[in-house]
Amino acid sequence: MESTLSARDRVGVQDFLLLENYTSEAAFIENLRRRYKENLIYTYIGSVLVSVNPYKELEIYSKQHMERYRGVNFYEISPHIFALADNSYRAVRTERRDQCILISGESGAGKTEASKKILQYYTTMCPTRHNTHYIRERLLQSNPVLEAFGNAKTLRNDNSSRFGKYMDVQFDYKGAPIGGHIINYLLEKSRVVHQNHGERSFHIFYQLLESGDNSLLTRLGLQKTNPQHYHYLVKVCVCVNLKVYFSFVCFCERTFELLKVVASVLHLGNMQFGVDEFEETHVTTDTQLKYLAELLGVAGSALSEALTHKKLHILFVGEKTMISPLNLDQVLSARDALAKAIYGRTFTWLVQKINQSLAFQDEVYYTSKCSSVIGLLDIYGFEVFQQNSFEQFCINYCNEKLQQLFIELTLKSEQEEYEAEGIGWETVEYFNNKIICDLVEEKFRGIIAILDEECLRPGDASDITFLEKLEDTLGGHAHFVTHKLANGKTRKAVGREEFRLLHYAGEVNYNVTGFLDKNNDLLYRNLKEVMCQSGNQIVKQCFHPDELIDQRRPETAATQFKLSLAGLMDILILKEPSYMRCIKPNNGKQPGQFEEVLIRHQVKYLGLMENLRVRRAGFAYRRSFEAFLQRYKPLCPDTWPNWRGQLLDGVSTLVKHLNYKPEEYRLGRTKIFIRFPKTLFLTEDALEI
Ligand code: ATP
Ligand code: MG
Repeated sequence: MESTLSARDRVGVQDFLLLENYTSEAAFIENLRRRYKENLIYTYIGSVLVSVNPYKELEIYSKQHMERYRGVNFYEISPHIFALADNSYRAVRTERRDQCILISGESGAGKTEASKKILQYYTTMCPTRHNTHYIRERLLQSNPVLEAFGNAKTLRNDNSSRFGKYMDVQFDYKGAPIGGHIINYLLEKSRVVHQNHGERSFHIFYQLLESGDNSLLTRLGLQKTNPQHYHYLVKVCVCVNLKVYFSFVCFCERTFELLKVVASVLHLGNMQFGVDEFEETHVTTDTQLKYLAELLGVAGSALSEALTHKKLHILFVGEKTMISPLNLDQVLSARDALAKAIYGRTFTWLVQKINQSLAFQDEVYYTSKCSSVIGLLDIYGFEVFQQNSFEQFCINYCNEKLQQLFIELTLKSEQEEYEAEGIGWETVEYFNNKIICDLVEEKFRGIIAILDEECLRPGDASDITFLEKLEDTLGGHAHFVTHKLANGKTRKAVGREEFRLLHYAGEVNYNVTGFLDKNNDLLYRNLKEVMCQSGNQIVKQCFHPDELIDQRRPETAATQFKLSLAGLMDILILKEPSYMRCIKPNNGKQPGQFEEVLIRHQVKYLGLMENLRVRRAGFAYRRSFEAFLQRYKPLCPDTWPNWRGQLLDGVSTLVKHLNYKPEEYRLGRTKIFIRFPKTLFLTEDALEI
C-alpha cells in the first residue's frame, strides 16, 4: 500500500475513498496532481479506476508488469489498468459472471489506448486453447483495421475514434480467449465530405494515397500526389504514423474491393458539374465518372443520371414515377450523401467481416461448456464545443444513459453488498438523471420524437419549426431552455437558433441548424437503385434491393441511435461492470502539464465527486476478514503470528485491541467495514512503527 504517512504527503492516496476531505473538489484535484507529478497516472475511487493521460510512454506496461498484477487485489499494489483487467478476468474465471469494463472520458483522454492495454493483457496473460490461438492475433488486429477506417486526426486527438465501440471478448471455461464480437455506434460520416480547419478525414484515405504502391494506385485511378488533389481531403495536416497501419489493413480477401470503395469516395468528391442553357445540371468530369463506374461496377450513364435527377414515386390509381432534375446545390448534396452512405455502410460491412473472423467456430463446445464474456466499451465522452450540433446531442444523450446505468448499478451493488453482509442500508441522496433521459427519448413528447415528427411532416418543416415545436411541447421542463424560455433559468445567453439542455454534467447549447437533414440522412431512391446493381461485391452487400421494395420509411438517424443505445443498455445491465474514467490533463498533448481548470471540468463531467460521495456515504473501506487479518495481525499479540479460530473472532479481537470505537466500524458476514479513512491510516501507521 502506497499510503503510509510520508509517502501519502508526496504521492497522495491511491484510493480517493481514503481522502479525509472527500467532499472537497480541491482536495480531489490536489491528490490527482501529486500523483501525476510522480507519474502515478492511476488512482481508484473504490473499484472505479481514474487515469490521467501521461502523453508519454511509461515503462509500466511490460509483460513483467502484467505478471505482477495477476491474481492480486486492488489495494495490495499500486493502481493500474492491469489490476482492473485482471479483476474482471478473475470474476469470469472463478464465478463465471459476465463482466464489462466501461471506459469514458473526453476526446484524447486515453480511452482507446486503455482498451488496447486491456486487450493486450488478455491476449498475453490468458491461456490459449489449442485450436483457437489465431483468435489472439485477430483480436489484436481488429484494432488497427477499425482505426484506419474509423479514426481521424482532429484538433483534440491525432488518432481520434469517430465511432463508439463495444467489444465482447469471449473466454472458455478454462479462461482462454475463444472469440469476440464488436458493435459499432454512430460513425461520424459527415467527416468524409467535410472537415473543420486543422482536422483530417479518416486515416485510410491518406494511408492509401501515401503508402499504396504505384500499380495499385493506377488500378484505382488515383495519383500519388498531395492529398489536396482530392476535394474531400483538401485540408493539409501533419501526418500520423501511416505506413504501419496500412499493412494491417490488407487483411481480408476482399482488400482490393475494399480499396476500390475507398477510391470511389475520392473520385466522387472530385466529380464536377455544370449547368446548361436549360438550367439542367450535368457531370462535366467524364474521367472521374469513368473511374467511378469501373470501381463501383455500375453503368456510368445510370450513375450520372441518378446524381443529377430525383425520382419520385407517385401513388395514383396505379404507381407512377416522376423524374425531376436537381439544381446544382441539390446535386452536390446528393453526391455528398452518396459518398457518406457508401463510406458509412462499408464501415459497418467491415465490422461484420471482423466479427465473422472473430466468431467462435465450435458451436457445440460453446453451448455445452458455456463461455463467459468481458465486454469493453470505448465510447465518446460528454462533448461541449463552441458550436454543438446533432452529433453532440446524440453523444451527450449517450452519456446521460451511461450515467443512469452507472448510478443504478453502483447503488444497486452497494445495496446488495450491504444486504449480503447483513449491514443496514443507509439511503444515499443523489441526482437521478432519468429526467434528462426521458426528456430526450420519451415517446411523443421527447426531443427525438418531436424531431422525427418534423422530419416526417410534409410542407414547411424546417430546423426552426422544429425548435418552435420543442418550445411548445417542452416549455415548462426544468432541464430545457431556449431564447424565449430563458426566464432567468440560466445565466449564459441562448441563441435564437439554439436550445439548451441542463445535463447532469453541465449546460450545453445545441444549434438546431442541420438537425432535420442529419436526422433524415436521406439518399435519393435512384442512387440507391444504382448502388444495388453494383458489381463491387462490397457495395452490393451494402445496398440490398429489399430496401427498395420496403415501403416503410427507414428509421431516422436519432431513432436508430436511440434503439442501438437501448440495445447497449440491455447488454450492459446483465453484466457486472467495472469503470474507468480517463482525464485529459491539457489541450496541448504535452507530458507533465496539469491544467487545473481543464481537469476540474472533467472531474465534473465524469461525475467523479458524485461517485465518491455515493461510495463514501456508507463506509470508506471494506476488506474480507481474511485479508484484514493477514495484513494487521502483527499489531496484536493474540492474532500474531497466526489466528487459529474463526476469522470473525480474530478480526473482533484485533479491532478491540486496536481500540476501534463502535461507530468506526461494522462487522458483516465476511467483511469488515470501516467508516473513516483516518481509522485505517492510524492502523497503517502502527504497522510502520
Ligand atoms: P477519442 O475520444 O478522440 O477517440 P481517446 O480517449 O480514445 O480519444 P486515445 O486515442 O486513447 O484517446 O489517446 C490519445 C493519445 O494520448 C494517444 O494517441 C497517446 O499518444 C496518448 N495516450 C493515451 N493514453 C496513454 C498512455 N496510457 N500512455 C501513453 N500515452 C497515452
Ligand atoms: Mg478513441
